[in-house]
Amino acid sequence: MAMFDRKSVLVLGGSRGIGAAIVRRFAAEGAAVTFTYAGSREAALELARETGSTAVMTDSSDRDAVLARVRDMGALDVLVVNAGIAVFGDALDQDPDEIDRLFRINVLAPYHASVEAARRMPEGGRIIIMGSVNGDRMPVPGMASYALSKSALQGLARGLARDFGPRGITINVVQPGPIDTDANPEAGPMKELMHSFMALKRHGRPEEVAGMVAWLSGPEAGFVTGAMHTIDGAFGA
Ligand code: NDP
Repeated sequence: MAMFDRKSVLVLGGSRGIGAAIVRRFAAEGAAVTFTYAGSREAALELARETGSTAVMTDSSDRDAVLARVRDMGALDVLVVNAGIAVFGDALDQDPDEIDRLFRINVLAPYHASVEAARRMPEGGRIIIMGSVNGDRMPVPGMASYALSKSALQGLARGLARDFGPRGITINVVQPGPIDTDANPEAGPMKELMHSFMALKRHGRPEEVAGMVAWLSGPEAGFVTGAMHTIDGAFGA
């Protein structure tokens, strides 16, 4: 029997990059996977066809839409909140509406989705939130809002672990360093600078992050909660 046979999994933000690798991993392990997308409809439909999963349009910046999506899933076994954005540039020049939208997607959606999911999760339920090593370390200018949003997830996991623990539900944050995706291509202009901070001079692969998510979602991680799990080639070391 595959590790996630018949388990019900929802991935918020699964159409591309790390999220798509997570969808592939759970689907390959027998789970019934639903994932959301916002802008990448074609990629989402193609991934759904490839993996036998279900793609649904849900914008993580819309709280009511996120809550409705989680409720629709019923008794979820695993929730993965992967959707996240970055806004780059001098903090003095940034549009405050864009910054608020970042916090809705990166912080408020993970919080509300986690609480709503926990309402209906059985004992043994798992919640995984995609943070970033930038929650621990922000070595470049122009990304304060992103760093703040990822640091906030640490408090979210520590606090909700206490609320959900008595019901046997775990919640953890995965903190990647540079991972080769559309958002941070290894072939991009930041490569040399990012690798200069790292012990392993390469970007990580989305599949490597998906492996950590799968482990945290599986039976061996039953005693792991309220914790940050860094996978960054020692970017933050
Ligand atoms: P990508 O930009 O490659 O993919 C982002 C995914 O999130 C897409 O599937 C996108 O869907 C979805 N998404 C974005 N905004 C929304 C929204 N409003 N509603 C629903 N879905 C949305 O990013 P990565 O794969 O690189 O990153 C995934 C996560 O990992 C993020 O939380 C990011 O902060 C984190 N991370 C990434 C690192 C990296 O180096 N790549 C490093 C550390 C953390 P769609 O295209 O359909 O809108």
